[in-house]
Amino acid sequence: MSFKTAPTDIISAELIFKDYVDFKENVIYLTEEVPDYVAKFLDDIMPDYVIIIYEMFNPVCPYCGSKLHKHEIKKWEMNKQTTVYKQRYKCTNSTCSKTITTPLSKIVEKNCCYTKEIRKIGNELEDLEHISYEKKSELIEKQYGIKIPRQTVQYHELTKSEHYLSQKEEKIAQLIQERNIEFSGIIGYDESFFTINNEKYVRITSIDSKNHMILNDQIMKYSDFDKYFIEIFMTYSLKDLTPYSNPNIPNPKHPLLLTDLKKDTMITDGYTAYVPIIEKLQMTHQKCVFHKIMNQRTPVWKTTNKLERQQENKENQLEKTKEKIQQLENQSKGQKPGRIPLKDKKRRKNKKKLEKKKQEKTQLKKDIKKIEKQLKEFEYYNNKISEIFNYDTVQKAEMEFNRLYNQLDFLPEEVAKFVKNLKKDFDKTINHIKRKDIPKTNNLLEGFFKITFPKKYKRRFRTEKGVKNYLRHMKIRWYERNVLHEKITI
Ligand SMILES: [Zn+2]
Repeated sequence: MSFKTAPTDIISAELIFKDYVDFKENVIYLTEEVPDYVAKFLDDIMPDYVIIIYEMFNPVCPYCGSKLHKHEIKKWEMNKQTTVYKQRYKCTNSTCSKTITTPLSKIVEKNCCYTKEIRKIGNELEDLEHISYEKKSELIEKQYGIKIPRQTVQYHELTKSEHYLSQKEEKIAQLIQERNIEFSGIIGYDESFFTINNEKYVRITSIDSKNHMILNDQIMKYSDFDKYFIEIFMTYSLKDLTPYSNPNIPNPKHPLLLTDLKKDTMITDGYTAYVPIIEKLQMTHQKCVFHKIMNQRTPVWKTTNKLERQQENKENQLEKTKEKIQQLENQSKGQKPGRIPLKDKKRRKNKKKLEKKKQEKTQLKKDIKKIEKQLKEFEYYNNKISEIFNYDTVQKAEMEFNRLYNQLDFLPEEVAKFVKNLKKDFDKTINHIKRKDIPKTNNLLEGFFKITFPKKYKRRFRTEKGVKNYLRHMKIRWYERNVLHEKITI
């Protein structure tokens, strides 16, 4: 093997390993740089008489800068699971002569028996899913074989939570700046409801529909929420709130003190209070087409459900009538055709019955046809209305809308009412046709709410602080998955 083709990366990895790990008889020396999982691995694979000693990479006195001498070793139960020793040193400078223990500051915090790695798990899991401390404790035991009481898991998580979250948030802000991601001014706005201790709360959120960055996201008691708050909220959404992304820092008193963001379009559902606010903000207003269509369908569905039930009843009746007719006809089989003698009352009665049933059958068939026609008509108009919002030019959409509007008197009542109402804000529902960069619906926000605050958690929290903390974790995940497409590590 020539040196030219030798796997140099493996050789250098070995050399590096030699600098950090030193195998002696019965002892493995690790420098303080070596991660805790390596110590655990070595402890697991080595015979019991081999001990692991962590020592300083560069044994120099932190007080006077003199050389240190090895002194004694101090036992440490890492994670109450792996026995390792820390080398202790004495300063060679006789006027200093301090005793120093290998600090392991990368692995563990002072006076703590659990490593940073383990203490981080609670918060890291919280980024993925809000689960109980009990379950977190179980997961740690399964994964690492370390039994930590639930209360300790909770303690670790809570003491590290603020640091963990704010570090990730800072990293996200930094990445956004580095990548030059700017707000597009096309903003989705919506509200979602939840409870804390059975009290109703509202979450109010605005999101950039292009790059999915969160502009503003607040929670408040439902009793304090009104259209005046919506106006304040929307106004703040158009300001740079990045310095206030930490929920513990309150918003400044007046939006005039903040930098403007780009403003263009606001996408909302159909609630009427939004209209004057968005006008005042001088923005284009796109009303979510999905909500519009739901508004149209709901009364129609009420009617069509009723019709479908009627149709089913009539069909059942028709079946029965047909059976009866068959029965009556069978009874008169083999009898002489022609006039029935006056005396034969039974035959006369049967004949009358048969005629009546045949009439009933005709009527039922007619009724069913009528219902079918009505249902088809509703389906036709449902499709027509959906189509309006799918045209690629405003002219076509307007033409189709006007065609319906001109037939108002001939439309089914439910459809006519909708078309009449749509006239009032039709222009606010077709902005997505005018401009391809405006979304047709507010589905992004619906998805945001579903992902960051799923239904199953909406009644679980006991404090505002708990919700806020949970939402910070979820927003980090949102940024990782939907904005930056990269996992944030700290
Ligand atoms: Zn010293």
